[in-house]
Amino acid sequence: MTTPYLPFTRPTLDEETIQGVVEVLRSGWLASGPKVQEFELALADYLGGGRQVRVLTSATGALEVALRVCGIGPGDEVILPALSFAATANVIVRVGARPMFVDVDLATRNMDLNQAEAAVTSRTRALMPVHFAGLPVDMDALYGLAHRRGLRVIEDAAHAIGSAWNGRRIGGFGDIVSFSFHPNKNMTTIEGGALSVADPELAKAIETERFHGIARDAEGEMDVVRAGGKYNMPDVSARVGLGQLRRLDEFNGRRRALARAYFSGLKTDPPMQLPSEGDDGHSWHMFAPLLPLEDLRITRREFIQSMHGKGIGVGVHYPAMHLFSVYRAMGYRPGDFPHAERIGRSTVTLPLFPAMSDSDVARVCQAAAEIIAAGARRAA
Ligand SMILES: *Cc1c(COP(=O)(O)O)cnc(C)c1O
Repeated sequence: MTTPYLPFTRPTLDEETIQGVVEVLRSGWLASGPKVQEFELALADYLGGGRQVRVLTSATGALEVALRVCGIGPGDEVILPALSFAATANVIVRVGARPMFVDVDLATRNMDLNQAEAAVTSRTRALMPVHFAGLPVDMDALYGLAHRRGLRVIEDAAHAIGSAWNGRRIGGFGDIVSFSFHPNKNMTTIEGGALSVADPELAKAIETERFHGIARDAEGEMDVVRAGGKYNMPDVSARVGLGQLRRLDEFNGRRRALARAYFSGLKTDPPMQLPSEGDDGHSWHMFAPLLPLEDLRITRREFIQSMHGKGIGVGVHYPAMHLFSVYRAMGYRPGDFPHAERIGRSTVTLPLFPAMSDSDVARVCQAAAEIIAAGARRAA
């Protein structure tokens, strides 16, 4: 009997969406047009809070645009967790500012806000927290800190579309909130991202920055008011996003059910360190326990290869960012952020996506239990 390979993630695209894309392709309007407008309004409606939403070609581009419209650049510092995808730190360097890493909490994997406060200097301009795996950062503490110290907040909510804090959706409140629609995320536009803001003037600045710095007067005469970039989303992508957004709550509900199945089914000896459970506001972008490497005689690489041998894909999200060459060159060292480093060394991302079945989860739990049992360092 052959079981199909189970990847760690896979998007769900329905026929209605595919047909909708075909219609856009036949419409003659492929770049930003009516579907982008419709998608932006649908996202604003979904997030709530009377927000302004603007979509872009990626979350990486969105974060960079967010920094630029805040006027953050050379001489400025931005505080962020040492555990995230590299894009979160890279964009800070790309605008000429300095990334100031702080450690994360071992259970929530979110930025330690006490350390963030301690890292504030006279040059600090913004906090850039990540809602890791879709578990919201403590928003009361985050915005309390931002207000106390007069800082902008750019939330990297790449994992958190559909997440909520005390019943309010992430992106439905707050300063600038960035989402990703990469195919690995909870909903996709093929490639794409979005910024949610409260202020229409700030939304205007984002529009200008994302499209060549072009502004038009009442007669439609064109001016270029800043050296803007090119980050506008095509209508084809927006149409994919409209089909995905319609099903986002269903997708996230399924993700929550699968995460619950992991919590009850993932029993290894020695035990893995499981992530925080969160509540119904957790969108479960991924399920990433830590391997008990100190009690094993196998490495993470060997664990991943053995899972692959059993037809199961496993990811690593993420190595601690400050240990990448580009950030070591700025003076960061091993030992600076012990939690991020421990997570970065021992984390494994198990399969989790809406089209998975309960028996897929059981198969992953069984495989992990077998590999860890075989790899356990038994007392003599
Ligand atoms: C995926 C991701 C990004 C970048 O998103 P893109 O849309 O691929 O540019 C940024 N931050 C985090 C935490 C991510 O997971």
